Amino acid sequence: MSAQSVNATTAGKVRAMPADLQGDLSNQARVERAMQSFAMDYGAMTALRLESCIHCGMCADACHFYIATEDPQYTPILKVEPFKQAYKRESGPFALFFKLFGLKQRVSAAELENWQHLLFDSCNMCGRCSIICPMGIDVAALIEQARRAMFDAGLAPAELYAKARHQQQTGQPESSSEPYLEMLKAIGREFHVEIPMDKSKADVMLCVPRTDIEHYPKAVAALARVMQHLGVECTFRSEGLVAENYGYYAGGRDWQRRISLRLIEQALACHAKVLVVPECGHAYTALRWEAAELYGKPLPFRVLHVTEYLAEQLEAGRLKLHKAGNGEVTFHDPCQLARKGGVMNAPRQLMQALGLDLHELENSKAFSFCCGGGGGVLDIKRAAPLRYRTMESKLREVDDTGAGTFLTSCSDCRATFDDAKAHFNWDKSTHSLLEMVADNLG
Ligand code: SF4
Ligand code: SF4
Repeated sequence: MSAQSVNATTAGKVRAMPADLQGDLSNQARVERAMQSFAMDYGAMTALRLESCIHCGMCADACHFYIATEDPQYTPILKVEPFKQAYKRESGPFALFFKLFGLKQRVSAAELENWQHLLFDSCNMCGRCSIICPMGIDVAALIEQARRAMFDAGLAPAELYAKARHQQQTGQPESSSEPYLEMLKAIGREFHVEIPMDKSKADVMLCVPRTDIEHYPKAVAALARVMQHLGVECTFRSEGLVAENYGYYAGGRDWQRRISLRLIEQALACHAKVLVVPECGHAYTALRWEAAELYGKPLPFRVLHVTEYLAEQLEAGRLKLHKAGNGEVTFHDPCQLARKGGVMNAPRQLMQALGLDLHELENSKAFSFCCGGGGGVLDIKRAAPLRYRTMESKLREVDDTGAGTFLTSCSDCRATFDDAKAHFNWDKSTHSLLEMVADNLG
């Protein structure tokens, strides 16, 4: 499959899509807010990214939304087209010329509403387009910047907005039958493992994905059990429990900062040397790569994904594992860990120590395709039909390995695959690598 070259004409073929709106801004105010917000983030890097595109269309061939549909509107760089046009008109090197001759029209509110589907429903922020681009343009970073502009204009998808708002106010992204703290304690009782809580001093601070608390409690118990096995001074903190950051998904920079600060402050309060991010890819990106900028200075502790932490313990001889006896397995590399974080060897070290026979997916490590649910897409209900289309080739890749066990190290990926299992009547379940480690402690 080969993508056509991309240009403004292709961009003009974007279809009208229903959009969610927040607030009661006028159309003009919405457009101004979006453009001001995008412009606020302009720097040399944004300008370079927007100016360097040679319209080759290669990023389309990297994106599973385009591959699954062959619809030009899903070409990654076109997802930021209104912002690119605004940049050229207002700040680019030929801005004066464009304005003088009226060559670039102002972006309309209707266009921005149509773009909500392209920036949120049909982008996992997976970064595969960024590593393919021959000009080195970080397309996913531009999309992230455009999401912030949409949020500031009151144009975020309702589900992401609601969860981000709830989380920045309460610490958890939605109400639950019981507060997460109580659910965590109940998991300890159910799985007979101590849940270390609110210690005033600990070497390691732990947090949990709400996906695990709600759907995969065994994974939460696995984290506590492995840490107990290692004999590490560690603690959860009741004021900073949740790993996810819905502010990051929704594009709400201020909310993202507040949510990150909650965890940072708790890590400081217990003098942690390491903040271990559980099996949650986007929490890793938000804390490992984005939190220091929002905090305003370097974090005085390390941020490690649990597989990185465990691989270090394995190398140091502190983590002892039995052979798991699962035989042939295959593994999905979560985008935020492998492609954005470079966490590729750590899970493989653990699988090797477990004696697993790893059959790699056709596209693995940095080139792995997203599960389809990343970037908050799993939460956006109207995005489901398109998401399922993108997932078909991924499920085929898993089947083609012939492996009997399918593993990953991100609970949102796991939830996305389990949702697909129900939708397609797929015969595979998705397992947690962390749980497998906890089940085979030496
Ligand atoms: S691959 Fe890079 S240069 Fe080519 S169209 Fe996409 S963003 Fe532009
Ligand atoms: S970040 Fe991923 S999903 Fe989004 S446009 Fe790029 S390749 Fe497609």
